[in-house]
Parts: sequence; structure tokens; C-alpha cells
Amino acid sequence: MPESDHTGAVLTIDLNAIVANWLLLRGMLAGAECAAVVKADAYGLGADRVAPALARAGCKTFFVAHVGEGVAVRRVLPNATIHVLNGPVPGSGKTLIDHQLVPVLNSLGDIESWGDLARTHGAPLTADVHIDTGMARLGLPPDETETLIREPERLDGIKLTFLMSHLACADEADHPLNHQQLTDFLRVRQPFKDVHASFANSSGIFLGPEYHFDLARPGVALYGVGPRPGETNPMAQVVRLQGKILQVRDVDRPQTVGYGASHRVVRRGRVATVGVGYADGYLRSLSNSGNGYIEDIRVPIVGRVSMDLITLDVSDVPVDAACPGALVDLIGPHNPVDTVAAEAGTIGYEILTGLGSRYHRVYLDSAD
Ligand SMILES: *Cc1c(COP(=O)(O)O)cnc(C)c1O
Repeated sequence: MPESDHTGAVLTIDLNAIVANWLLLRGMLAGAECAAVVKADAYGLGADRVAPALARAGCKTFFVAHVGEGVAVRRVLPNATIHVLNGPVPGSGKTLIDHQLVPVLNSLGDIESWGDLARTHGAPLTADVHIDTGMARLGLPPDETETLIREPERLDGIKLTFLMSHLACADEADHPLNHQQLTDFLRVRQPFKDVHASFANSSGIFLGPEYHFDLARPGVALYGVGPRPGETNPMAQVVRLQGKILQVRDVDRPQTVGYGASHRVVRRGRVATVGVGYADGYLRSLSNSGNGYIEDIRVPIVGRVSMDLITLDVSDVPVDAACPGALVDLIGPHNPVDTVAAEAGTIGYEILTGLGSRYHRVYLDSAD
């Protein structure tokens, strides 16, 4: 039996589409380099497959969140530049150096400890410095930034590669914080004239060339999520999730479906049960609100999403197309990630990074 017969769904990940998306974004960056953010296992899609595919297409620079993710990407990309967004957490110095990972220094404390390490190492150590311009999350807060500008010797021993910052509202093009952060970043950058700068995530690229600087850091758009919510999505779709029908039930009298009896069938019809549930990242908030497709016929989720199962109203589908073994698009051409996210009351990022480990994964790769 092929492995796909043992699972409740097939998850197809189109590496060619990821490469096409990277090329599209790169094409928008006149002079700037286009990196790829592959944190969280490439947003749930498999960094060990995604990163090499992008490297073959010409991507040289990658970003991860954790040191451990950097080590994993280093294993598949011996020559790439790999930046670690969450920085040099205590005890990670040797691992960062051994794997030639570039930490993003997020505080004066980070700068001090990385500088100390560099001075004992006997050779300059590479790092980025992250300036917080409006997230209040990671990065040097304004008072620390002013200290660094007054006392640049704090960077002695550190080979500064990028000065970076991160946009809070890049997906809302008209939000005043975008321009405010840009102005702040430009000001902070003044004294670091010869240091390269990095500012834009996926949506930031679409704010215009003044946001591009020397290196852009797109993540989610590579994976098919629309970088400008509410506008036509220019990115190619990457993910298809096809759940398998286990059983079809004729409902010929009024009856409720699933836990909590939250859906009541009133007209005569058929309900299909598919082997995908919230344990697979098919969010429970899709209960009575999500939609699958069989070919181009919409089949709404009826009743609650349970751990391993969902139920769909397939009354409108011809009997022989909605039978045990038939596939239902849970993410597909008619219901892309953004649509599913909207139905679940969340964002595409969460749908992608939640994609479960029980699916049979198929990678489309023209290099195979
Ligand atoms: C995650 C992240 C990115 C990528 O953001 P997308 O919105 O997925 O393009 C870029 N920069 C930083 C600092 C991040 O944390």
C-alpha cells in the first residue's frame, strides 16, 4: 500500500511556486537583495526542502528564528548566509560560531555578550543589530539606540553586517506607523552610513522602493499568502490539502451532526466524514464555517471540527464523486490559504504553521 493510503489527507507543497514567488519579489527589488525567511520550518512547509530549492534559484541569504533552526538549515545549505532573528541566547555562542550563523543582536546586553565573545575569540564576529522602531518586541528600544549612537565603541570586535528593523503594520499600506517607522529608521541609520540596512518583510516590499534598503526579508508571501490583504493576491498558490472521505451518510430525516449537536440537517441530503481534524491543524474555529471543494462544488463543513474528523455537507455533489476514498480540497484552487484563514478567523501565517504532521506530504519540484 502506498504511504498516502495510511493517512487522512495529502498535503502537496509546490516548491516551483515558492521559487516563482521568490523570483517575483526579487524582481520588485531594483537594487536590493532578496533573502528568504524560513523560520518555523519554512512556515510549516519543510525548511529542508524549501531552503535548498530557493538556494538553487539563487537565494543566498536566509533567516530563521531560533539557533536550532539555523543549525538545521546549515545542514542542508553549507554555503548560505543564515541569520538568527531571536539572537544569541545565553549558551548559544559556540553553536552560532561553529555553524557560522549570524545572530541578530536585539539589545545592548546582546551586543555586550557578543562583543565579549568576539574579543575572546580573537577575530571579529559577524552580527546584525536590530533597532526597534515601533514593535516593542525585539530590538534595541529607543533609549538603548541612543546609547549605541553615543557609544559606538560598544560594537568593537563585532563585524556589523545589517542594521535592521521590522514593520508593525506593513500589511496596511495606509497605516501612518509605516512612514513613521521609516523616518525613525532613516534617522538611526545616519551614523551607521557604511552598514547595510534591512527593513521590509513580504508586505513591506509592496510599500515601495524607499522601504527596500539593501536586503528584504520576505517570508509568508513566498508561501502563497497575499501580502496586501483585500487586494488581488499576486503570489502563486503553494499549498494544496486534500482530505480523504472515510464514510458518507444519507440523512433522510431531521438530525444533528457531531459534538454538541451544533448543526441540524433539515433537508434530505448526505454528509461525508473526512479524516482530518484539529489535531492536524484544521482549526476548530472552522466548525460550521469552513468550506471544502469537490471539483468545483462547494461542500460546507457542518457540525464541529473534532480531533481527527470533520463532516461536510456533500448533498450537492454527484453520489459517485463523493464516496469513500474521494478527495476533498480543504485548501485548494477554490479555497486558498487566505480564504481558509478568514473562515477560521485568523491569518494565513497561522494556517500554514499549524499544518499537521500526520499528512502524507508530496513535494512538487521540477528539479526531481
Ligand atoms: C517573520 C519575520 C519576517 C518575515 O515576515 P513576513 O511577514 O512573513 O514576510 C521578517 N522579519 C522579521 C524580523 C520577522 O520576524
